[in-house]
Amino acid sequence: MVENTGSIDALLQEERSFPPPADFAARANMSDPEIYARAAADPEGFWAGLAGELDWFQQWDTVLEWDAPFAKWFVGGKLNVSYNCIDRHVKNGRRNKAAIVWEGEPGDWQVYTYGDLLREVCRFANGLKSLGVGKGDRVTIYLPMTPELPIAMLACARIGAPHSVVFGGFSAESLRDRINDSQSKLLITADGGYRRGGIVPLKQNADDSLEGSPSIEKAVVLRRTGSADDKMVAGRDIWWHDLVQGQPQTCEPEPMDSEDMLFLLYTSGTTGKPKGIVHSSGGYLLGVQATAKWVFDLKEDDIYWCTADIGWVTGHSYIVYGPLANGATTVMYEGSPDYPDRDRFWDVVAKYGVTILYTAPTAIRTFMRWGEDYPRRHDLSTLRLMGTVGEPINPEAWVWYWQHIGGGNCPVVDTWWQTETGSIMISPLPGLTTLKPGSATKPFPGIEAEILDEAGQPVGPGGGGYLIVKRPWPSMLRNIYGDPERFKETYWSRYDGIYFTADGARRDDDGYFWLLGRVDDVINVSGHRIGTMEVESALVDNLKVAEAACIGKDHEVKGQAIVAFVTLKDQVAMSADVVTELKAHVAGKIGAMARPDDIYFAAELPKTRSGKIMRRLLRDVAEGRALGDTTTLADPAVVDSLKAQYGDEE
Ligand code: ATP
Ligand code: MG
Repeated sequence: MVENTGSIDALLQEERSFPPPADFAARANMSDPEIYARAAADPEGFWAGLAGELDWFQQWDTVLEWDAPFAKWFVGGKLNVSYNCIDRHVKNGRRNKAAIVWEGEPGDWQVYTYGDLLREVCRFANGLKSLGVGKGDRVTIYLPMTPELPIAMLACARIGAPHSVVFGGFSAESLRDRINDSQSKLLITADGGYRRGGIVPLKQNADDSLEGSPSIEKAVVLRRTGSADDKMVAGRDIWWHDLVQGQPQTCEPEPMDSEDMLFLLYTSGTTGKPKGIVHSSGGYLLGVQATAKWVFDLKEDDIYWCTADIGWVTGHSYIVYGPLANGATTVMYEGSPDYPDRDRFWDVVAKYGVTILYTAPTAIRTFMRWGEDYPRRHDLSTLRLMGTVGEPINPEAWVWYWQHIGGGNCPVVDTWWQTETGSIMISPLPGLTTLKPGSATKPFPGIEAEILDEAGQPVGPGGGGYLIVKRPWPSMLRNIYGDPERFKETYWSRYDGIYFTADGARRDDDGYFWLLGRVDDVINVSGHRIGTMEVESALVDNLKVAEAACIGKDHEVKGQAIVAFVTLKDQVAMSADVVTELKAHVAGKIGAMARPDDIYFAAELPKTRSGKIMRRLLRDVAEGRALGDTTTLADPAVVDSLKAQYGDEE
């Protein structure tokens, strides 16, 4: 674990800071500094106040029932999530406002107003009912990033059928495991989706997976590419367009208990077998509505774009439920950022006049590597706020984003949260918080996050340890689907009754949180406990480096030695001199104990399909072990080429 050995002082020496621009602060949705103290003094009252901004069919009796580790929020309350995301806006003057602005990879595009969305969700919900899907039945959704994906989710929410969205990049085998774990009755898929100029064979994968998924009775198939017209299975498969044909345009929203399951979502599997994370209706919706409103400062005329895939929690919470609960305009893009060229994202920003952009550090580092010319081709001046999520962001990547995408005048909100937390937990409030590149800054009001040492004692300023959350919060996971023992063991056994995040963090003298990565990614060199994040950020700080991943390798003398895998910027050639330079650079930034023993160049680093670096695999490569589970790896060839290189040089 990270101890207060001074090993991460390099991060904490970050001295650049960015107060909110005055004009931004003057208009911000949340600009009252007292909000933190007020929420801390009465968290339940604070959340209940925000819950009043949702539309309830029946008022709750009790705000919170907490029987650790099982929480119930707004007990007795009834609401419907699709009603809150659509109908109430249609009734309140937003019928003709754009709800979803969608662009397909080939360049086709479509706008759904709130009125359109209501009609399409109702027609599809009626279609689901006609197939015998009802309240409580699980539905697996395996779709590309088309508007039908949020429509399917909202239709499930409308009739009370929990959805389980499986990212379209997953294989037949991963899909089958998730269907079987959730015992879904229906699968919603497409004949394909467009990615990097090609077609992702979703229908083929679905057919393969259904051979081993007996719980599925029917499959609804969206015709997106025309690539599987001869693959429909009689008696099982129904075209989406046939299903909705002739369906009524209205469908009464099912009144749901606040605690009823809205969805389950399997975590990406960076660390092992996927877990079916269960989310509630009332508490979840409250969490995403409130955080989207304050962290992204959503205004009536914003064009908001989160570049995640809806297959991940970021897309659930901040493409679909959070923005739509706020009546915002949310942009969706189907494809890859380098198709037809490396400026596609900037083309989308300019074309639709995007004002708020939310993306991931892995994407930002890729853009850095490609260089500034691509964003420079487009007018990005509509942007006013930007966010990141998914991994710690290296300070240099933060500053590059701020400078080259935001034009030096958009606040950057680094948001820390997890599939399990449902909504953003640690993040700046952009009208209030002075930003420091690389820090997610402070817990959202009402969230009591702390950093504890091994013994469970809070660490003081400057100290590092395990990030935990002390009190229950409305959008927290309720369970692991079908496995309450694993739920208790994974999250609630490290410290009794306290939520364990499995991330390491440190706090500085201003009380800011600095995320250091997963606790199992911390390296112990001769008793110095060093966060992988710190060494990686020192490497990325060197102008030649685009991306870096560090791991600890067993070492006879030091316990562990640092091994770094580095991707160089385009135009930079690999050489022994660069290795020497980078080792010296890290030693200079952090100290001699952090000097990597070995540095390897890689064309790509192994990443999960959600874009996170898989250090677990790099450890296996470095220590010559058989590779662990690689099913979530985006491109298996990456590891083979690393293994070949590592083997050669050993
Ligand atoms: P699994 O739990 O299955 O291994 P995962 O943890 O990658 O997968 P997510 O829930 O999508 O799945 O990711 C949450 C994790 O991502 C956090 O625990 C943290 O390690 C990392 N993370 C997310 N946002 C940030 C951030 N802003 N700063 C630092 N780390 C972040
Ligand atoms: Mg996780």
